[in-house]
Amino acid sequence: MEKWYHLLLKLFYGGIHWEIEMSINCSKCRKPAITYIRYNGMHLCREHFIEYVKRRVKKDVKKQIEIPNDATIGVAVSGGKDSLIALYLVHEIFSIRGNRIIAFTVDEGIKGYRDESIEFARRNCEKLGVEHHMVSFKEMIGFTLDEIVSRKKDGKGPCSYCGVFRRFCLNKKAKELGVKVLATGHNLDDMAQSALMNFVKGDIEKIARMGPHTRIQPGLIPRFLPLRLIPEKETTLFALINGVEYHDRVCPYSIEAFRGVFRDIVEGLENDHPGTRHAIFKSYETIRKILLEIRPFQPVHPCEICGEPTSQRICKACMLLENLKKK
Ligand code: SF4
Ligand SMILES: [Zn+2]
Ligand SMILES: [Zn+2]
Repeated sequence: MEKWYHLLLKLFYGGIHWEIEMSINCSKCRKPAITYIRYNGMHLCREHFIEYVKRRVKKDVKKQIEIPNDATIGVAVSGGKDSLIALYLVHEIFSIRGNRIIAFTVDEGIKGYRDESIEFARRNCEKLGVEHHMVSFKEMIGFTLDEIVSRKKDGKGPCSYCGVFRRFCLNKKAKELGVKVLATGHNLDDMAQSALMNFVKGDIEKIARMGPHTRIQPGLIPRFLPLRLIPEKETTLFALINGVEYHDRVCPYSIEAFRGVFRDIVEGLENDHPGTRHAIFKSYETIRKILLEIRPFQPVHPCEICGEPTSQRICKACMLLENLKKK
């Protein structure tokens, strides 16, 4: 049994310096270790690795959000490994006390990319017996992302449009379906990259707004991040050893994303100084808590055009859409 994992792990991780100690026993039992966790020096067998991931997620989710009984919990699922692992864990942790778990996939309209990943989302939901709902840019805002990219002339990258419209679609659809809280698949690497990127851009506003959402605002479905303490390599390994099939292609527009710079920085720092991602996350959490305490609470009200919550007169999605329609 173990041989199968070793071969797979060698194949998948050989090229990216994943450290696997084939002949070393698990730090918690006598079984052969399948992985080495560099930032804390532990060797773990399959069972203890799974337990290690689940324990941290369960503990952290309780700190992030309180979920009442009989709640509808939404999970944003793209078909990639992180969002699928978030779905599996949310399903395992919260399918109790009358809760209902539902999954959403946003179809941005990226030809040859999103159409493939939707299939993975659909198949995994079917396997788990979870309701799967689709929401598309075309249906909600009138344009696919591919159409937006060919129309826009303001110099903004595709991700600037994609992020705003994706939040808009998810929030609207989640409300329609009576969702109380919404989980997303951001992992520790994403959190560290976003924190650094927002510091560098001087975007303190965004740091305060990064999830989890502890302030409940009318019309805004609060989000939580079950995987925010789990590094990306661990979500990949978790998916592999649990037989979760996922879409592993990258978005064709990601090449233009500023985030790529921070991905390389965080990866380089972590390689040279294991534990850096956790340290960045810890600093970000401390700053976020202080910001939430000292900043005046910005109330939201319905957007004058679409009725979605915003702190301005017109929401960001409507502003971007107006610009697109003009051209
Ligand atoms: S990389 Fe950018 S354009 Fe592609 S899905 Fe992500 S946010 Fe959207
Ligand atoms: Zn073990
Ligand atoms: Zn609006």
